[in-house]
Amino acid sequence: MQIIKSNKTQFEYDIQALLKSFYPEWEPHMLAPDSEIRDRRILEGEPVMELYFGETEVTLKMLGGIPDSSQDNGLYTWYPKEMPGTPEYKNAFKRFFYVSLCKETGTTLPWGNLTGIRPTKIAMTMMEQGKSEEETADFLKEMHLVSEEKTALAIEIAGREQKILSTLHYENGYSLYVGIPFCPTTCLYCSFTSYPIGAWKKRVGDYLAALEKEIDATALLFQGKILDTVYIGGGTPTSLSAAELERLLKKLRDAFDFSTVQEFTVEAGRADSITEEKLKVLFENGVTRISVNPQTMKQETLDLIGRRHTVEQVKEAFHLARRAGFTNINMDIILGLPGETAADVRHTIEEIQALGPDALTVHSLAVKRASKLGRWIEENGATAYNNTEEIMEIAAKGAADMDMTPYYLYRQKNMSGNFENVGYSMRDKYGIYNILINEEKQTIAALGAGSITKGVFPDDRIERCENVKDVAQYIERIDEMIGRKRRLL
Ligand code: SF4
Repeated sequence: MQIIKSNKTQFEYDIQALLKSFYPEWEPHMLAPDSEIRDRRILEGEPVMELYFGETEVTLKMLGGIPDSSQDNGLYTWYPKEMPGTPEYKNAFKRFFYVSLCKETGTTLPWGNLTGIRPTKIAMTMMEQGKSEEETADFLKEMHLVSEEKTALAIEIAGREQKILSTLHYENGYSLYVGIPFCPTTCLYCSFTSYPIGAWKKRVGDYLAALEKEIDATALLFQGKILDTVYIGGGTPTSLSAAELERLLKKLRDAFDFSTVQEFTVEAGRADSITEEKLKVLFENGVTRISVNPQTMKQETLDLIGRRHTVEQVKEAFHLARRAGFTNINMDIILGLPGETAADVRHTIEEIQALGPDALTVHSLAVKRASKLGRWIEENGATAYNNTEEIMEIAAKGAADMDMTPYYLYRQKNMSGNFENVGYSMRDKYGIYNILINEEKQTIAALGAGSITKGVFPDDRIERCENVKDVAQYIERIDEMIGRKRRLL
């Protein structure tokens, strides 16, 4: 654990997030004289910097624990003109802290001092308020020190999102998410709610029964509203049998009015869960968009990350989906997977291009400590997972060669190389739900274990309520989950 000694613990979240962006392996913690110490590791932690908030100046002193430092115990000072306690003060502080780290390390970050997960939301909000693209770009570059390239990407995506969302019902509309928390096996990097279907087979019926109860209650809450998009994710919804899928889809169609739905997506993520029969059920029940996710087309990596399916199976699943009639198929890939080089990513892109999907979602690996991958990295001491500008460029060019343009973007904590996840799509094949969840423009009612309902209210308030992640708990406490939703909505 790395300790930042300070006379105040303000801006702790931003400080930690920025430090982790520069030093992904760090676990920074701020320690002030009045801090309550609950973790023994804090006392044993390595002091790496001292931050002093004075009345007229703020100083940051490096204590020598900075790896690859180009400075010798650097001292940085800021004389704030802004009033403490104001958003302007906080923004200026973040600039100072970020610039000091840049000087210390001799590097900059592509997204500057932005620590949030939705950089396009800033651009979109400004443009909706009538700011020009130039004004928005200047703000991102000057206020947040975002690179020229990422600024252009954020502006391009925000403009496209505005157009795509123009047909949605912001006032009276809503979207629906349904979570199926089962997968064939658990991937090494998984940070979602996912249980191996084999072990849970006997309880799937109970899960669907609880979900049906939640579906009925939610449909009542949204009577008279317009359903714009539906997304079934997880987990891997196609882990369910064809009969179970049919039961779920029929229930949804009976409970909600689908006549206004513009997009109905089902994640058929894992190739080892896809069959002709299941695809037929999806297609016949009005699903318009599916995802068949290879993550990589390199077999050794698939084996390493626990996907338990082959490259051939991905190709077969894709062809089956086309034959079943799907004209909007997305594929997900992950950049920065353990051991993967630029040549491996180039190969993956070429294989995907040969299949010809309608959309490509490019993720930059995010390592969560609690995931199996986090533990794997700890045990193996692997430094061989890394995403680079070159690799990002290979994916972006690969998408452009397929006539796709970027249409949504978000970031996660602990992302390899500090980049972003980008959704690319051909014209009119955009995943509208993906934009909605990212830009928080509309209420999304989320059903199932581990799902989070997001209420977007007319006064711009955004409030959330969570369902428990544990499947057994979800089944047992379904009435409580419904109660939470009623109170929020
Ligand atoms: S398919 Fe997705 S949800 Fe399932 S285990 Fe893998 S990463 Fe997790």
